[in-house]
Amino acid sequence: MSLSKRKRGLLREYVNYTCESCKKHEDKVGELEPHRIRPNDEGGTYEHRNIKMCCKKCHDIFSSAQRMARGIQ
Ligand SMILES: [Zn+2]
Repeated sequence: MSLSKRKRGLLREYVNYTCESCKKHEDKVGELEPHRIRPNDEGGTYEHRNIKMCCKKCHDIFSSAQRMARGIQ
């Protein structure tokens, strides 16, 4: 399951096009991506409360932190 373009757009609007992690605007960091707080393989869905909108850089950091936490490199 992935997020529709429309829903992604609404979520971006909801956070004022600003990364929830580093607080930088899309103008500077590019289009925000939905990061699932609880990952896909642990049953995490694209529900609003499971999503943090963040820039690619922060998304990469979150994703690798999650992988490391689970012992997967
Ligand atoms: Zn960021």
